[in-house]
Amino acid sequence: MSGSLKRLPTDIHMVLEEDKDRCEVCTVEPAKRIPFVGFDGIHQNCSRCGEFKVSGSALSMMNQGLGQELRAILSGWVRNQNTLGSVPLITSDNLKKILATPIPPVMERAKLLLVEAEKGLKRLGDNFDLNEPRFLAASYSSSIQDVTYLFRILFDQRLAKSTALGGMCEILPDGYIKLDELRGNNSASANGFVAMHFSPELDEIYYKGFQMGIMDAGYVPLRMDKVEHINRIDDEIIMRINSSKFVVADFTGHRGGVYFEAGYALGIGLPVFWTCKRSDMSELHFDIRQFNCIDWEAPKELADRLQVRLEAVLGKGQKSQNAQQANSAGYDLRGI
Ligand SMILES: [Zn+2]
Repeated sequence: MSGSLKRLPTDIHMVLEEDKDRCEVCTVEPAKRIPFVGFDGIHQNCSRCGEFKVSGSALSMMNQGLGQELRAILSGWVRNQNTLGSVPLITSDNLKKILATPIPPVMERAKLLLVEAEKGLKRLGDNFDLNEPRFLAASYSSSIQDVTYLFRILFDQRLAKSTALGGMCEILPDGYIKLDELRGNNSASANGFVAMHFSPELDEIYYKGFQMGIMDAGYVPLRMDKVEHINRIDDEIIMRINSSKFVVADFTGHRGGVYFEAGYALGIGLPVFWTCKRSDMSELHFDIRQFNCIDWEAPKELADRLQVRLEAVLGKGQKSQNAQQANSAGYDLRGI
């Protein structure tokens, strides 16, 4: 009975199809339901917000009167995590942090709108429809009035223009120049931060395993190896994690710092890839065991499996040329 009540449409947006429920983030669009086993929560893909998972406890927090503006922040966060190649998991812990983040400044939102507009265009000069709900999410907007205003900023700067009545628009040449600039500024987000125990015995596994796997996937490996930090997390580490696209956390040796760094990364919504030497797996903290951990024995095996995992989750990175900067022997860089 409650199931059929839930499906009663309250407005035109909420006429739900068989495999769709109301989106738990924006509560406006119908979202595709994706089976999510072994976890107390749901997995949805919304045409406005994008794809996300949300835990049961976060869900009950969200159902306690979250207003439109906070939902716009959450929706924007999900959409932009998708842009970074990640399907985020909203938990009661990270939900508080996400909602405490202010809406980006107006000019930043206009840029996010431009970045979203470029997605899915096959040819230069192709049109996009500004009325698509994804533009609301991408620009942290709760109404189409905001989207229209942000678009006017793009128009005033000759970055985009409307081509017809009804929302069809195109990106102008200056818009493509701006997009190239934005990609250049965003190079830090190709970084993969490696959180691991620092001991000379693990140097070989770092250089031949982690570094190789990350570079082979097209990303830039990053390790804080100039400071020995034992359960001490300094500002520089936080800054490095903040500017990374993902974190690889290796639990060999079971250092407290690694658990902290992985937890911090999860809290700010970064994808975390879990690894551990096979012989150390039995001592893995039970909180970590739920994650799909790469258990490694030898560097080459780790590099290969890490590359496959990174590419499966994030896609192939665009930074293959960084292999050259790292002065790695054996790379064929011709044609890159
Ligand atoms: Zn939604």
